[in-house]
Amino acid sequence: MPIQNCSICGTTLPQALTLTQQSYCQKIECKLSWQRNQHNKIHQHRSQQKALYESARDKRVQHFLVANNLEASDINLVELPYVDTQSSAPPEERLSDFREFLHKLLQTLDEVEDETLIRSPNKTLEHSATALKTLEFCASCQGKCCHKGRQYHSFLQRHTLLKAIQENPHFSIANELNEPNPESIVETYLSHIPEESITDSCLYHTASGCALPGNLRANICSEFYCNNLSDFINKSVSGEAKKHTISVNEQNNTLINIQIIQ
Ligand code: SF4
Ligand code: SF4
Ligand SMILES: [Zn+2]
Repeated sequence: MPIQNCSICGTTLPQALTLTQQSYCQKIECKLSWQRNQHNKIHQHRSQQKALYESARDKRVQHFLVANNLEASDINLVELPYVDTQSSAPPEERLSDFREFLHKLLQTLDEVEDETLIRSPNKTLEHSATALKTLEFCASCQGKCCHKGRQYHSFLQRHTLLKAIQENPHFSIANELNEPNPESIVETYLSHIPEESITDSCLYHTASGCALPGNLRANICSEFYCNNLSDFINKSVSGEAKKHTISVNEQNNTLINIQIIQ
């Protein structure tokens, strides 16, 4: 049934529009109003889904606390994301793009001063004991933040390569000018790409963690903690954390996992 009238102002729609199923007329205010309504509907739907999730999560957490003999007042509840770990061999095109990217970085190492180092937006208070604990949190999530590593070439920058050159004596020196051998550095980075990595994530992201050795990784890879994890670390460091900690992993408004962090 073709739409006959503008859903906003009620005027009769021209025949050409009724055939397209467009439900607003050609007036800009009607178009904007229609777009606003659509946006509000989507927002409302998302809020409802979130509220349903939160209510289901609260019940699950409640049961979990009872089953484990824990008091809600003793608990730090850390909500984290969750990602699937479907793996596949990276397409040839991604590998050649990455190789090209590394070559470009190496050829412009002298521009390091102009480069803005990628830093974590969160001010996380580092602490060795809590840093160790974060492994359990991140393992439960399976590395959501590493997905951004696809877009940003594993966050590698000139800064990273210069640090890697300094810290890795096996990067051979190519000539009497003491310039690093680009091929050896590029080949080292390429050699650590696993045969299969998490589909559409960083090339080094695998189901069992990061395949790139720590001394070759970008600084952000060891500095970044997502908001909730960062808040928890800060509380732990400043002595505000409660006695027990449980993590809850959520994906698309579904509770995937709930566990006690030791
Ligand atoms: S920092 Fe947060 S998003 Fe990243 S792996 Fe750890 S829990 Fe997941
Ligand atoms: S290099 Fe490792 S830690 Fe960094 S984004 Fe990729 S998988 Fe994550
Ligand atoms: Zn109208």
